[in-house]
Amino acid sequence: MSISIKNSIAILNATWIGINPDTTVDTISIDSRSLQNSEHTLFFALTGPNNDAHHYINDLIANGVQNFVVTFIPEECKDRANFLIVENTLVALQQFASYYRSLFHFPIIGLTGSNGKTIVKEWLNFLLSPDYNVIRSPKSYNSQVGVPLSVIAINEKHNLGIFEAGISTVNEMDKLEKIIKPTIGILTNIGSSHDEGFTNLEEKIQQKMLLFQNAAVLIYQKNSEVEKYISAKTNPFSWSYKEENADVFVFKKETENQQTTLFYTYKNNNYQLKIPFIDKASVENAVSSLMVLLYFGYESSVIQSRMEMLFPVEMRLEVKNGINNCSIIDDSYSSDFQSLKIALDVLESQNKFKKKTVILSDIFQSGFPNEQLYAKVAQLIISNKINRVIGIGETISEFKDQFLNCITFKTTADFIANFDKLDFSNESILIKGARSFQFEEIVTLLEEKTHETVLEINLNAISYNLNFFKSKLKPKVKIMVMVKAFGYGNGGLEIAKLLEHHKVDYLGVAFADEGISLKNGGIKLPIMVLNPENTSFSAIIQHQLEPEIYSLKGLHAFLKIAKQKNLQHFPIHIKVDTGMHRLGFEENTVDELIATLKGNSTVKVQSILSHMATSDDAKHYDFALSQIQLFDRLSSKIRNELDVKPIRHILNTSGISNFPEAQFDMVRLGIGLYGVSNDENEQKELETVGTLKSIISQIRIIPAGDSVGYGRRFMAEKQTKVATIPIGYADGISRAWGNGIGFVSIKEQQAPILGSVCMDMLMVDVTQIECAEGDDVIIFGESPTVSYIAQKLHTIPYEILTSISQRVKRVFYR
Ligand SMILES: *Cc1c(COP(=O)(O)O)cnc(C)c1O
Repeated sequence: MSISIKNSIAILNATWIGINPDTTVDTISIDSRSLQNSEHTLFFALTGPNNDAHHYINDLIANGVQNFVVTFIPEECKDRANFLIVENTLVALQQFASYYRSLFHFPIIGLTGSNGKTIVKEWLNFLLSPDYNVIRSPKSYNSQVGVPLSVIAINEKHNLGIFEAGISTVNEMDKLEKIIKPTIGILTNIGSSHDEGFTNLEEKIQQKMLLFQNAAVLIYQKNSEVEKYISAKTNPFSWSYKEENADVFVFKKETENQQTTLFYTYKNNNYQLKIPFIDKASVENAVSSLMVLLYFGYESSVIQSRMEMLFPVEMRLEVKNGINNCSIIDDSYSSDFQSLKIALDVLESQNKFKKKTVILSDIFQSGFPNEQLYAKVAQLIISNKINRVIGIGETISEFKDQFLNCITFKTTADFIANFDKLDFSNESILIKGARSFQFEEIVTLLEEKTHETVLEINLNAISYNLNFFKSKLKPKVKIMVMVKAFGYGNGGLEIAKLLEHHKVDYLGVAFADEGISLKNGGIKLPIMVLNPENTSFSAIIQHQLEPEIYSLKGLHAFLKIAKQKNLQHFPIHIKVDTGMHRLGFEENTVDELIATLKGNSTVKVQSILSHMATSDDAKHYDFALSQIQLFDRLSSKIRNELDVKPIRHILNTSGISNFPEAQFDMVRLGIGLYGVSNDENEQKELETVGTLKSIISQIRIIPAGDSVGYGRRFMAEKQTKVATIPIGYADGISRAWGNGIGFVSIKEQQAPILGSVCMDMLMVDVTQIECAEGDDVIIFGESPTVSYIAQKLHTIPYEILTSISQRVKRVFYR
């Protein structure tokens, strides 16, 4: 793509203010981190309720970006770049995409539906890619922002597009339709998810169907509610399990050995098709995919040979701990240029180690001749500052010379044979390969070996929860996020990096050590240490951490060291006790505090804080108000008498929710970030961050009268199927959770814990659950939730989260 700035101004109907009207753009970006940002990038400064990309423009100009679509020009950026001023940058992005789409005239498949969009899209890509150069939306880019970005990635070499559209309320689909303009429509499934945004099912169907208003054909499961909304231009092409008059009538399904055989009638002939799935949703998605192949006129033998190779789609770019302190990003399931770009961005944003290696297979489906393709890939890899490339495959081996510092192997087996010589340590490794290369074997080799229990942390959920709380803040109120105790057990450094990206104002930790390890990990944000011991003051100063000072004794000790080091205006935080009676200056010591600090230039009162004892409890509302009032009074006094302008803050998570008038200058977000609220209604609005998972080690059937576990505390009254899970109280599962109180989830069903929890294992009742050894087990997550467990154990979610032992591996994903 190459579009002139002049043309862009016309497309967007923008006002232009800039330095060079004769330039062109070849890349679109909305992400300030993206390394593809360059001189020929057109950056759209999107604004959301909590984030405004206009803030990043200054940095982007410094990094060479020249062209911006904005709603205003930030003061410091005037006369330094080209600005296209519009009313709404998101609308502009959509207009741009819609114009860009109109330049191409090949078939475009548009998918929508409540479930299955992403899977059907990935499967169609797999099924059709032998014959087409497919462009598809990456991951599940199906939103008002994701769709335009996906469409803008089309290039001259493509000859088939597959894009998904997701909506959550009315008036969204019309916009997406204009951008995708599908010629072939697929309605995957209209289940009941995301119903909140619609008054009823009918409205939801009607809105989804808008995607197909200009399509030549619509593929759907036969349904008269849907048919009401098929436009006159569109040919229906339906399938059904029940209705014989559907175009494709699936009259029988047989399942055996994890396979399903479908028997169907099409154009008066009967056919059979074997697919490697038995679950209802996968079979339905496979039928949707089959419909497309039939529509394209494929022979039944070709259909069979391709569809029997369908695979379960794991769409996540998983970040895992590797051997020798490496960090690995597992993308071992696809290899095309577009998804390589995304994976490199993830590698970049993770920014854990300076040293970076990419293990890359041959790349398929680019549409470009190999020469050109590998030149582009090499360029991309160089611009991402990758230190080492390990290419695996015949083709990439031929183009080895294009890359700097590149080793190649013809096959994955060759690589594995030479694994020991490759010396992986203290680096980030992206593993990116087409399925046929079976890079999962490489992942297994590189992954740190621990037992099979993991705490999975959903980084997107953290971002979501952060924004949820930010949206409650008045303009200009700052936010400190508490990452003490390894981010409430969820992982300190990874979460701090994410928060840094989101430009929170402060981090808070409990002890100096925690702050030092964040600074050593490259965190630049200011960090307040809640509980600095006098012995750690030197280290605090050395690592530029900021201590909370809560007593005269502590103040004098800190001043002594700070003076020795000749510090000037070193930031400290003054904690006052307003009723919690834990740490803090009491009211009667405040005068002496002021006297000590008056005229002192060694330290600077960066902030004044206090902590509430009952912000989560309506019963103590008056007490909470009295704390806030006392805080206001004491902090005002310090501020006025010292003539300083410190940041004032008192609210924790439930304070943010319950005392919006007491936000002062900053709030301190803790548990809410991790998806837990003390309020039932608010809980529904947060996303689950941590899922503690394990697997079934062994299954046995015991007769009535036998017992399970230590002390025979479970006696079977009838024949019972027992599964053993390798997680116990040493991993942080309370013993009190056993003996009929607690349960785990297996296949989305509850399996009660039998007898006592052991040190490293527990046993559960799976009599009613169809399951096998090796199956996944959820200890907590969506069900049971951490809050539920806490309630049953008469404690609070904080304790459950922070009890998960450090021997449990943390896996981060987006
Ligand atoms: C832990 C902590 C917080 C955060 O509390 P949450 O209830 O988790 O939001 C805020 N301030 C101080 C002083 C804390 O110790």
